[in-house]
Amino acid sequence: MARHAKPGDAEEYRSRLVSLLENFEEHLKNSELRTQVIELIPAIKLLQNLGRSLIQGPETGGARARVLAYMKKYVGIVLAGEELMVVAGISEYARRIRELRVEHGWRILTGYTLKNLEPEELQKLFATDKPKLKPDQYILLSDRQDMEAAYRWNVANDIRKDKNMSVRDKILKYFRSFVGKEISGEELRYVAGDKTEWARRSRELRTEFGWPIATYFTGRPDLAVGMYVLEEDRQAPEHDRKIPEAIYRAVLMRDKHTCQDCGWKHALWNPSDPRHLEVHHIKQHAEGGSNTEGNLTTLCNVCHDMRHSNR
Ligand SMILES: [Zn+2]
Ligand SMILES: [Zn+2]
Repeated sequence: MARHAKPGDAEEYRSRLVSLLENFEEHLKNSELRTQVIELIPAIKLLQNLGRSLIQGPETGGARARVLAYMKKYVGIVLAGEELMVVAGISEYARRIRELRVEHGWRILTGYTLKNLEPEELQKLFATDKPKLKPDQYILLSDRQDMEAAYRWNVANDIRKDKNMSVRDKILKYFRSFVGKEISGEELRYVAGDKTEWARRSRELRTEFGWPIATYFTGRPDLAVGMYVLEEDRQAPEHDRKIPEAIYRAVLMRDKHTCQDCGWKHALWNPSDPRHLEVHHIKQHAEGGSNTEGNLTTLCNVCHDMRHSNR
């Protein structure tokens, strides 16, 4: 047992704990309740220290580092929360795991987060059998830290803390910080300070303000449900905004997510020609053109620009 520990650490805590419990036999027989309770207090501390001392090496900085060191030793294996409590040496280990996951970009799955995943995401993670995780069980999926996720968390946190920005502006700023990157609803909710309006505000940015924010339903059937991408850092022309959500979706579906001028679709996307799809009024809104499917068409942003400059 004490093989992993430095001599003097784990072994010392163990033997002190044993003698304390041996002495406790006497208290159990003869002492009154309060004395029994008080005599037991050092045992808790010793047990915590014994658990902490099992993790050795350069990563022994704090509870979070110990939890991480333990998880990295057992990548892909279901671990009970109590195990992590032992090595953390504190009862708030769940918070440490959340920090590792959200702030530091370690891919840790819990029964709790698993419950909130969409079926498509589950399929992506577990092709065959999905693990049955209880809320207080954890898996570290990879021993490599997602540095970008960690960076994104820092950006999200800065925006979230800004008291002078509306929820909509916060979400827009976050999108514009990561143009072309997939952003989850969980991130947006965090940026919005957990306000439930985040979903409505994200939708408004597209429908009212013309930011090309695509989802599974609006232009990017290749995305998982619940993911968002700001496809380009520009707003659609004023007259093409304010198309009702349902009609916007219907036009894209009717046109099979394909530019009606050149045939571009997202499968043809490449970094040197990063296009996206927009919905355009055939007869301009300002000239009395209606927001109906018949007056709307799907164009890539390049053809869309051409249509407007040819007017
Ligand atoms: Zn086109
Ligand atoms: Zn247009």
